[in-house]
This record gives sequence, structure tokens and C-alpha cells, in this order.
Amino acid sequence: MRQPSRFKCYFHLVHIKHIHFNLIRNMKMKKSILSALILLFSTLSLAEVKVVTTTTVIYDLVKEIGKEKVKVDYICRGDQDPHFLEILPSYMLKLRNANLVFKIGLGLEIWLQQIIDGSRNDKLKLIDLSTDIEKKDVPTGKIDASQGDIHPNGNPHYWLDPENAKIMARNIFEVLAVESPQDENYFKKNLNDYISKLDAKIGEWKSKLASSQGRSIITFHKSWIYFADRFGIRVVGQVEPKPGIPPTPSHNAELISGIKKSEIKIILMENYYSDNAPNQLARSTGAKVIKVANSVYGQPGINSYIQMMDSIINSLSNNL
Ligand SMILES: [Zn+2]
Repeated sequence: MRQPSRFKCYFHLVHIKHIHFNLIRNMKMKKSILSALILLFSTLSLAEVKVVTTTTVIYDLVKEIGKEKVKVDYICRGDQDPHFLEILPSYMLKLRNANLVFKIGLGLEIWLQQIIDGSRNDKLKLIDLSTDIEKKDVPTGKIDASQGDIHPNGNPHYWLDPENAKIMARNIFEVLAVESPQDENYFKKNLNDYISKLDAKIGEWKSKLASSQGRSIITFHKSWIYFADRFGIRVVGQVEPKPGIPPTPSHNAELISGIKKSEIKIILMENYYSDNAPNQLARSTGAKVIKVANSVYGQPGINSYIQMMDSIINSLSNNL
């Protein structure tokens, strides 16, 4: 039997090496194509505006204007009190690669600066949405911090007036258009669509509360003045003696006589506050406690600003 020649073996070896070389070459090509794709996608994702918002209401408005051209996340959940947020390291990570952070301002987010500092993101731009808002409850004199008032720069709960939500949406549009000029027309169309949608809803909400014009209510926190002024409702007292100060027996006693005298039917409160004091007031007076979400995702089924307002207006119009 003929043994395979050394030449043949060598040929086989060269052939195998050649196949091996081709394989490696193919793999290298595939690898470089893959690297190019990764680079392309990372460049694309770099072009996308990355936004973080302090609250879920701002988050919803940014989504409405930016849609798929903007990546957006929020810090404070809708069922948390935005005045008092425990700072978590994960909030700093959210801000690390963001381009923009939007806040309500007027001292609502006393926790934000610490998160910004911790993010070590030098390129982050901070936008205060209160700039163009007509502010209410702005103190004329100096506020004594020892009194614990958490509205020292004016009332920050302006988002509960839908006309202010329109101002917020316009400001968000302007900032996004500067950040991503190539998408300006896209953002503008989304803004116009959203403003039309809100205008239609404002008409609907006003007619739902038309018969409640001039009615008086008590609220837990002093967060409803913008809302009340828009819809012609009077807020005549708060369960908190001052914004951020827990209820006291003496203040409760005053409220009980006030509720009885003015025949107040409703004690309106955000669902993240304790309802102990409001329930006590309700038992003594026959008024009804109404708990609502004052931010998006504040309770199941509230997934947008419009759904939040729908829910608040329905709760009031059914009980006022
Ligand atoms: Zn407040």
C-alpha cells in the first residue's frame, strides 16, 4: 500500500492553514463590521437627547413633545411627596449621562442639587420650568426658616393648573429645539398637537366643574391654589398649619369650627399624606375626605397628565 507522500501531507497542511486563515480573515471582517455598527449605533444614541425630570408630570410632558427622539427618565415617583425625597445613589446614575434635567423649581426639589453634584456630569444643563409661570403665594417679607415653611419662594404646585402645563410644554419644546435643532419641526408639531388636546380637555374640565363655581374646600397641603383659581373653587384652609408642618390639635379645632360654619363638604388631599387628621376632621364635621394623585403614576390607571387631571376633576365634580 502506498503511503501518502510528505509532499501531500505538507499540501494538506498548507490547505488547512489556508482555510484557517480565511476563517480568521472572515471573522476579523465580521468583527470590524460589528465594531463599525456598534460605533454607528453609539453615535446615533449620542445624538439622542437624554433628559431626566424631577417629577413624573414633567416626564409626561417631555414624552409628549420629544416622543421617540428623546430618552427620558424621572427621579421622584408619582406617589412620593416631591418636597421630601430620600436621596439614592441610583438618582446620581440617572443624571450621569444626561444632557438635560428639568425641575419644577420654587424650592420644591431641595434634594436636587445634591444629586446633580453626585452625578459628576459637567455637561448637564438644569432647566427651571417655573421661570415663565405667574407665581402665587410669593412672600412679600422675609420668611423665617425656623417656621419650617416649605414654600419660601412662592407656591411651587403650579402644574395643577392646566394652563400652566401649556407654558411648561412650550418651555420644554424651546429647550429641546435648542438641544436638537434638526428635530425642531418634529417637536413643534408634537407641541401643537398636545396644546390642542389640552385645550379641548380644559374646556371639558371647566364645564364639569361649572356647577361647583364658588364652592369652598379644605385641602391638606397648600398645593391647590393654582388649580382652584383656574376652576373657580375657593380653598379656605389647610390641614397643615403651614406648608410642611404636621397637623396639630389646636389647628384641627379651628378647622372643625370653620368647616361647620362654612358648610364645607370636601377635604382634598394628596394620597401620599397620612389621612389621620383629615379623617378626624371628617368624623367631627361630616365633610368627605377625597384622596387624589397629584402627579403622573400617582395611582394605578393614571399614566399621563391628562388622566391625572381627569381623575381629580371627576373626584371633585362627583362630590362638590
Ligand atoms: Zn408644597
